[in-house]
Amino acid sequence: MKTTVSDTFGTLVFDDRVMRANLSAKVYASLRKTIDEGKELDIGVANAVAEAMKNWAVSKGATHFTHWFQPLTGITAEKHDGFISPAPDGSVIMEFSGKELIKGEPDASSFPSGGLRATFEARGYTAWDPTSYAFIKGKTLCIPTAFCSYGGHALDKKTPLLRSMEALNRQALRILRLFGNNTAKRVVSSVGPEQEYFLITKEMYDARPDLRFTGRTLFGAKPPKGQELDDHYFGAIKPGVAAFMEDLNEELWKLGILAKTEHNEVAPAQHELAPIYSTTNVATDHNQLTMEIMQSVAAKHGLVCLLQEKPFAGVNGSGKHNNWSIATDEGQNLLSPGDTPYENAQFLLFLCAVIKAVDDYQDLLRISVATAGNDHRLGANEAPPAVISVFLGDELDAVLRAIENDVPYTGTEKTVMKLGVDVLPKFNRDTTDRNRTSPFAFTGNKFEFRMLGSSNSIACANIMLNSAVAESLRIYADRLEEASDFESALHDMIKNTIKDHRRIIFNGNGYDESWIKEATEVRGLLNYRTTADCMPHLLDEKNVRMLTSLGVFTVDELRSRRDIMLENYCKTVQIEANTMINMVHKRIAPAVVRFTADLAKQVSEKRAVIAELPCTYESELITRLSALSDSIGTKTGELEDAVIALHGVDDIIRESELIRDTVLPKMSELRVPCDQAELLTAKSYWPFPTYGDILFSVK
Ligand code: ADP
Ligand code: MG
Repeated sequence: MKTTVSDTFGTLVFDDRVMRANLSAKVYASLRKTIDEGKELDIGVANAVAEAMKNWAVSKGATHFTHWFQPLTGITAEKHDGFISPAPDGSVIMEFSGKELIKGEPDASSFPSGGLRATFEARGYTAWDPTSYAFIKGKTLCIPTAFCSYGGHALDKKTPLLRSMEALNRQALRILRLFGNNTAKRVVSSVGPEQEYFLITKEMYDARPDLRFTGRTLFGAKPPKGQELDDHYFGAIKPGVAAFMEDLNEELWKLGILAKTEHNEVAPAQHELAPIYSTTNVATDHNQLTMEIMQSVAAKHGLVCLLQEKPFAGVNGSGKHNNWSIATDEGQNLLSPGDTPYENAQFLLFLCAVIKAVDDYQDLLRISVATAGNDHRLGANEAPPAVISVFLGDELDAVLRAIENDVPYTGTEKTVMKLGVDVLPKFNRDTTDRNRTSPFAFTGNKFEFRMLGSSNSIACANIMLNSAVAESLRIYADRLEEASDFESALHDMIKNTIKDHRRIIFNGNGYDESWIKEATEVRGLLNYRTTADCMPHLLDEKNVRMLTSLGVFTVDELRSRRDIMLENYCKTVQIEANTMINMVHKRIAPAVVRFTADLAKQVSEKRAVIAELPCTYESELITRLSALSDSIGTKTGELEDAVIALHGVDDIIRESELIRDTVLPKMSELRVPCDQAELLTAKSYWPFPTYGDILFSVK
């Protein structure tokens, strides 16, 4: 009998249904209060929950438990402990206490801390995030947790994410109260992350040291057929891919992840998976799990799932669209235009808060998506540029212009926009092509932040987004709470925000070269092309002030994060450079030299038969290949020197600048003659599968 989605959905999750069925009414009510309102959990309740959780997990075949957390490496970490405990009679019992549920103490010394955790206090602790359900992976009960040092510093991505959600909640509630809403208890941000990825066969992957060591190809000539025909997007899904997707969905559903849509993307071998949105911290946990499960399911199918953001040069990279909105616990989406004049004024104020936030903190948003991998993608084929702007669509833009200039709004119905009096027209979601090219687009009732790279944890972007919007709302609430005439203060605030931040609104084509010029030269928007350019600005005074005053980060945490991100950037690029050098010396150069020598041998063999044969084809090829091998030799030497020059540089900012200014350019230069040589070398001599082989490998 075929099982249906509703049979399997959430079977491996200790969710509300399971809690209700397995906890006493009192314990359940108390846990629910913790989940819904952030109330502290007492140890008696924790013990009861732990017992029920263990019994449930054991009945599903689990033998171990782990505090599952997200250190600054960007992936997830887990340390498994058995439930097993010896009994006096020589047998064993399965045990799991409330204390073990709430708090864990993994050895933190091997996770990056950027100097936050002196070695004498190598231990950090993990604390249960009860708003994200526990789940079973393999034979292990996984408890989603936050990870801190004993000094209380966050060593992970989840702690500041939860703090940013709290900051947003606090400030948004102040605004709602001003609008007369006295019933909403919480405001939460929600995210639906659309995840792009490439699927290739394991065979191709294994044959490419660059993919194995760095997740992206460092060499590779353009294939005769790439994405020119746009025939892959929404095209028929190949059987091998369909089988993978089916299996993936099944696994995700069991974990309660609402995987919903799947389709091919623009590039060959590229696909996308979108879940239904959920609360930001849950969406973050789920996205981390999704990335992990994608890779394990791919392995079962003899495939490899590439999550690196630019695995192939000249072919679209992979991003992650972060669909973000804020809503009350009563279900009101604060980014949705409402039905009454009052609701509309409130909508416009929240909309303005986002516009202001994006303009004031362009740098933080750019920083939140900065990695060596994503630097290659931003501004390349069909990816947003490194400049941030907000797309509103023509209709909403016209409304804002009318308010800004106190003139009638001439939309579908001609009305003079007076806030708090008129009903806004219903906006149709703007689905023009220009929308697709925006890094930050309003899509009807949410914003879509499109600069995230496919391997980014979505925590970082949402920490910055939540915080920056909380800061706008804080400023608004401070002023409005003091205002003698609320309506006119509100009107001025909206009008001034539009005026002051108009430069960030751009409804044109974001992929257009002329836009970058206008954005940077006329509008003065930031264009940080690389991680080395943007990351130091994490510590700019305005950023530190905002993030610390909202309680999202301490100064020490910010400093450590900047260092860790820059170290990560430097290490990633160094591994790539060393891989290139290695591939050239061991495989590429020998192949080119051997092929050239064999050509020369063939010429002399032919001439031994007929002495005056011109052999033009071979001779020309020999000349071109010799020139290319010389160039490969020189460029490899230069790259080696650039890498050696990094040794002994102990300032991380200086090192990242050297990476940007010398190592990366030398890598690009070395790649050119290698890719040209690939095109001229006989297939049987070339040591690696080509782009054509790899991109069309899955049947
Ligand atoms: P597309 O962008 O491909 O046209 P949709 O707009 O339907 O697709 O949805 C994209 C993603 O946005 C999905 O993950 C969806 O769940 C999510 N989403 C929809 N509404 C909201 C919302 N209010 N807040 C956050 N995410 C949302
Ligand atoms: Mg989308």
